[in-house]
Amino acid sequence: MKTLRHFRTDDGRDLYALPVEAFPGFFVNLYLILDGNSVVLVDCGTGLESCRRQIEERISEVRRTYVPNLQISDIDLIVVTHGHIDHFGGLPWIKEKTGAPATIHVLDRRVLSNYEERVVVASKALASFLELAGVSPQRRARLMEMYLFAKGRYRSTPVETILTEGFPDLAGLDGTVEVIHVPGHCPGQVSLRLGDILLTADHVLSRTTPSQAPESITQYTGLGHFFDSLEKISRVEGIRLALGGHEDPMDDLYGRVRDIRDLHEQRLEKVLAICQEPKSVAEISLELFGKRTSYHVLLALSEAGAHVEYLYQRGALCATNVEEIERLPNPVILYQAC
Ligand SMILES: [Zn+2]
Ligand SMILES: [Zn+2]
Repeated sequence: MKTLRHFRTDDGRDLYALPVEAFPGFFVNLYLILDGNSVVLVDCGTGLESCRRQIEERISEVRRTYVPNLQISDIDLIVVTHGHIDHFGGLPWIKEKTGAPATIHVLDRRVLSNYEERVVVASKALASFLELAGVSPQRRARLMEMYLFAKGRYRSTPVETILTEGFPDLAGLDGTVEVIHVPGHCPGQVSLRLGDILLTADHVLSRTTPSQAPESITQYTGLGHFFDSLEKISRVEGIRLALGGHEDPMDDLYGRVRDIRDLHEQRLEKVLAICQEPKSVAEISLELFGKRTSYHVLLALSEAGAHVEYLYQRGALCATNVEEIERLPNPVILYQAC
């Protein structure tokens, strides 16, 4: 989705999809919800200058095309769907522009409000994961540099309210938007239901399977939680249209959920086939995804790590180099199907 789109829910609310470039060439969809009384903004982009400019342009476009007199300062509430920088990075700027309060699920709040501390703690966990995965020291240094660079220049920003499961009674939502907690892609990931439309955020996307990471890096992520959350969404009845945090509208949410689940099942089978011999996560990642470059290396390793962790937790993979693991402080763990 690269153009402004308007949708109407079966209970008469207007939804505007505002696609903007989070990073050059990489689009994120923000949404405006208008119910006649209030204006709610869903997500904030990265906060990069180009992204902020595009958000302002999109809001002007809504004003020109659909809602005369709409101003950015009319926004009553800012909902952040999860704690990833492409969705919350613009929060300090939007709060300044609108004076509106922000809300996010409790499990992602600290990412927004205690950001500097979280980057340090999460970096340690990531560095340790990469070491245990068997990534060479030089490559680890490069990956960590890239990871920290992508964290950008966000500064901790207070979040006024917590987005609770169900129908939170927040100014702007007024108990009519259903919040569905769907951890996996992110600990505090939520989808929002408005009548027959579901804003899936990054839980379900139209083309790509949302990236996964092991919960050894961040609790409440991981493939097990993600599968439970896919199941949870498939039980939400009556969704005519699903709109993601990226990519295109989905007419068949339930089919898309099945496809995503199938893809992961196939990937789990592949990991088991690869692990007929003892393998490190780095080796498994290479066999699954081939040679990747730049940030995609990190994504591939996390994805492989999430699948290995899922199988290991369930006793389908075993660590084979136990003597080494016992002896060394940060050993590379080798996994084999068992
Ligand atoms: Zn995300
Ligand atoms: Zn995203």
